[in-house]
Amino acid sequence: MATITDRPEGSLLRGTLTTFRRRCGKPTCHCAGGEPHESPALAYTEAGRTKTLTLAEAEVAEVGAALARFAEARAELERAGDAGIAALRSRRGR
Ligand SMILES: [Zn+2]
Repeated sequence: MATITDRPEGSLLRGTLTTFRRRCGKPTCHCAGGEPHESPALAYTEAGRTKTLTLAEAEVAEVGAALARFAEARAELERAGDAGIAALRSRRGR
């Protein structure tokens, strides 16, 4: 059975997809007075701080899939952990 550690680097991602908005600082740019520049981004926490990693449009689908795999792997671990608790409790019940 494949485990999390067998997965190639980048196949799992922690965080959430978000939209990063910023002003570039050029006074003549449309962002100075109106709409900021928007780019897809991955928001994640590191040492208790939220960090943002700007993504290329082409990376969004790949990142979304890796986030979904992470959620599934985490759910799988939770289920295994719950099964462990159930097994331990049933042993106590005898
Ligand atoms: Zn700008």
